[in-house]
Amino acid sequence: MKSKYIMALDQGTTSSRCIIYDHDGRIVNMAQREYTQIFPEAGWVEHDPEEIWQSQLSVAKKALESGNISPEQIDSIGITNQRETTIVWEKATGKPVYNAIVWQCRRTAEFCDELKAEGLTESYRYKTGLIIDAYFSGTKLKWILDRVDPDRTRAKAGELLFGTVETWLIWNLTGGRVHVTDYSNASRTMLFNIRTLTWDKEILDRLDIPECMLPQPKECSCIYGETEADLFGIPIRIAGAAGDQQAALFGQACFEEGEVKNTFGTGGFVLLNTGDKIVDSTNGLLSTIAWGIDKKITYALEGSVFTSGATIQWLRDQLGIINSAPEVEQLAEMVADTAGVYLVPAFAGLGAPYWDSYARGAIVGLTRGANKYHIARAALESMAYQTYDLLDAMAHDLGKPIQELKVDGGASENNLLLSFQAGILQCQVKRPECIETTSLGAAYMAGLATGFWSSMDEIKDDWHLDRKFVPEFDENKRNSLVNGWHKAVSRVLDD
Ligand code: ADP
Repeated sequence: MKSKYIMALDQGTTSSRCIIYDHDGRIVNMAQREYTQIFPEAGWVEHDPEEIWQSQLSVAKKALESGNISPEQIDSIGITNQRETTIVWEKATGKPVYNAIVWQCRRTAEFCDELKAEGLTESYRYKTGLIIDAYFSGTKLKWILDRVDPDRTRAKAGELLFGTVETWLIWNLTGGRVHVTDYSNASRTMLFNIRTLTWDKEILDRLDIPECMLPQPKECSCIYGETEADLFGIPIRIAGAAGDQQAALFGQACFEEGEVKNTFGTGGFVLLNTGDKIVDSTNGLLSTIAWGIDKKITYALEGSVFTSGATIQWLRDQLGIINSAPEVEQLAEMVADTAGVYLVPAFAGLGAPYWDSYARGAIVGLTRGANKYHIARAALESMAYQTYDLLDAMAHDLGKPIQELKVDGGASENNLLLSFQAGILQCQVKRPECIETTSLGAAYMAGLATGFWSSMDEIKDDWHLDRKFVPEFDENKRNSLVNGWHKAVSRVLDD
């Protein structure tokens, strides 16, 4: 008998990918396609929903063909996606009525200021776990409706449907038969009450969004439906869905309360499993649904670093002191430390715990002897300091220290970074063999629903350590480094 696999569809902000996993959680084959970014005005970002769907479908077919894998070998499909991106389409034709408004798009920032001025911040935070921001789907959906259906006649008549990207993909994969979302994606819309697990009527009222256009919220690991037979030749079950960061937390097997991961990508995303508790942050972090599985909801605290690996791209593209991102490690290793130089990459302001959108970047502590090696090292270390700040905020919200950090994302290949991270955090940092944790998490969710994997315990056994980094600094050295960082940050804040 031929081996069975899980197909993970990873619909990201710049590319659509399909990764096929075996029962040991190892990659069998993958395919990837970039697609068009649309910037109609400064600060606006859109995607063509048809291109999202077609690129995703084409990489799924390609991963099967190039891997010589037959559709019969696919047990089920799991989906993970760029979160918050908003799509509205016609139920009857499946045609989008507007481009997808991407999570990065700032077009509803002014409307969000209005909501805040109405004093809604606290009640929205309590219900949705989120701060009021243009980032989330709710105000983007309102914007599209204001444009295409100002009096809501069509939406109220059930002619228009809303979805985030997983909803849109499942709808297309099932030939328009299934209109669902999962709890992790629903919790990023700013329309979903994470306590009652229902769309929030008061928020829908304020944003003038008819509830009938919203998808049905479901668990992250369950059989949503089957693909149209003509897509792959036979119907395949769609059995898992989660937003990218939550899927990464799952792929890292952070199943227990207190377990935490950081993804070192262009930005940095820290998620901490808070179990069945919603932790109300006093440090500017978000509360979100990590996943719903087996009638149990697991929550998370989330914080993000706006400029993480992008700082290394800046060294490469703007300063030209490296040719490729991995080269930063060799440069940084040329010196034992930064000799008091700190680089604060506040290129786009600073997020939690500072929340200063007007702060701008700086290199401080320069002396006549400072050179490119010190700057490269300071850039790399800034990624670790920013992660430290988020984890420190989380430890305060939890009232107990973080025990260990699991890492993934492109920059987690950098050993010097992870070793420094362990020193600054004074805890172990663990890198798994598979750093494709996002798609792996989606695969796990699908395979758990169909019985491909028997339990989360079995999955935990599939998590293999590549390398563990232990703290090598003493307390004094750590404190003086962190104090220096905070002093450097204080110089860039826009008081
Ligand atoms: P994303 O999914 O956000 O596009 P990736 O997870 O692919 O990002 O990571 C790419 C980012 O990591 C880039 O910003 C790049 O500068 C950085 N990066 C990649 N390799 C290294 C490395 N060895 N050391 C430091 N940074 C790196």
